[in-house]
Amino acid sequence: MHMVAVGGSDAGISAALRAREVDPGADVTVVAADAYPNFSICGIPYYVSGEVPRWQNLAHRTITDLEMAGMRLRLDTTARRIDVAARKLLVTGTAGDDGEEVISYDKLVIGTGAVPVRPRFAGLDTLGPAGGVHLLHSMGDTFALMRTLERAAPASAVIVGAGYIGLEMADALTTRGLRVTQMEQLPEVLPTVDPELGTLVHAELAGRGVEVLTGTTVHAIEKAAPGEPERLRVEAVTAAGEPVTRAADLVLVVTGVRPEVELAVSAGARVGARGAIAVDRQMRTGLPDIYAAGDCVITHHRLIGETYLPLGTTAHKQGRVAGENACGGTREFAGSLGTQVVKIFDEAAARTGLRDHEARAAGYDPVTVASGADDHKAYYPGSHRIAMRFTGDRATGRLLGVQLFGHKDAEIAKRIDIAATAIFHAMTIDALSDLDLSYTPPLGSPWDAIQAGAQAWTREVRAAARGTW
Ligand SMILES: Cc1cc2nc3c(=O)[nH]c(=O)nc-3n(C[C@H](O)[C@H](O)[C@H](O)COP(=O)(O)OP(=O)(O)OC[C@H]3O[C@@H](n4cnc5c(N)ncnc54)[C@H](O)[C@@H]3O)c2cc1C
Repeated sequence: MHMVAVGGSDAGISAALRAREVDPGADVTVVAADAYPNFSICGIPYYVSGEVPRWQNLAHRTITDLEMAGMRLRLDTTARRIDVAARKLLVTGTAGDDGEEVISYDKLVIGTGAVPVRPRFAGLDTLGPAGGVHLLHSMGDTFALMRTLERAAPASAVIVGAGYIGLEMADALTTRGLRVTQMEQLPEVLPTVDPELGTLVHAELAGRGVEVLTGTTVHAIEKAAPGEPERLRVEAVTAAGEPVTRAADLVLVVTGVRPEVELAVSAGARVGARGAIAVDRQMRTGLPDIYAAGDCVITHHRLIGETYLPLGTTAHKQGRVAGENACGGTREFAGSLGTQVVKIFDEAAARTGLRDHEARAAGYDPVTVASGADDHKAYYPGSHRIAMRFTGDRATGRLLGVQLFGHKDAEIAKRIDIAATAIFHAMTIDALSDLDLSYTPPLGSPWDAIQAGAQAWTREVRAAARGTW
């Protein structure tokens, strides 16, 4: 059995590793467009900041590790076309300067991932990395950005976009000593959480010297006039129609991703949410012997069904399912809850499940309750307050979503994971409060913060039912 995985990142490599694990006799080839298989692109901000000193440290596994696991790597090789009927993959060198080659497969896993969204404003394409204007997704993008940082020694940067990558990069570039302006067209930063928590993220950025301009839409990046101290000018407009201009030496555009589906679609694959490849929960595309996984496919969400939620955690799990099934398995992807966490300087913001409006759109009758609790007993030094937002279904008391914000030492990530586990298993908010969680004063409270949040929700909903609020 020859399995070919296209894409050398989280999904493709997970599929290849799992195939070798379940069928040690499987012949496995990974076709990767670049020379950096199995790199943790999630770690790029920490290499840019200098906290991770060498780019090589970002490798989950080295090329030798991968080869030792039994896979053949075809690096700097791009898959161009699939002949579905003949089970053949046409590849060329990524630079396109050498000939075509045909690779036969028995099973194919497509893990072509996502590419950055390129907003249609002037200057993005014409100036490019050589002109100090960068996108950020791949190791190639990272090297280009590092070249600008090291050779041009920029003193200032404008970051377009305040999603989680934009925020991580605001942290990274500030840590490197740049003066950062962050521009976001929506009314608040980190729009994946409620504005009440986005405001706290905003305050953390501002407190660290980042100029945050929300409700501000960029429409052009231009070369500065000769003699001006900075290299670039960013032109934007506020929601009220006021023009805004900022000068900077470097511009980073991080406004989201879109699925890379050309290879699959040209072979006849169907697409679903946000144009991502449609797959079933066994990661089958519907084309014979062809699976797909990761940022290029739709995501099955446990509460709302089909959506598009490109995340590394999901890509690993889907890739593993695809690899196992390519070897004859029948495993199903259990589904995502969109669980995510981001560190912004000394704070962290996290969410899992649904926010109020998402739950309402999915047919629930949601109630969202804000509360706060200490991460551990306040009498023990170093405690931090956690801001919480719990969303539950009014009628059934089912937990639908949780959002947290607090100090990075307040176990925000692991506390959101408790909530994710509860939602995954369709628990009620009351049942979450009954869980037997650990306690010692320096690390927690007899009622963990997450249980305090659950109890606050129940109290408010009961009070409302009695008409006492
Ligand atoms: C800066 C940054 C930080 C992030 N942080 C987090 C985080 O903290 N947590 C989290 O869960 N997620 C995070 N993510 C998202 C996460 O990295 C992605 O969800 C994940 O990498 C998706 O993996 P993938 O294999 O599906 O696709 P990708 O990582 O996009 O990889 C696809 C690969 O396929 C290759 N390819 C595409 N087409 C072809 C072709 N025709 N032939 C050969 N090769 C091809 C591409 O070159 C690419 O290497 C972050 C992403 C970035 C950029």
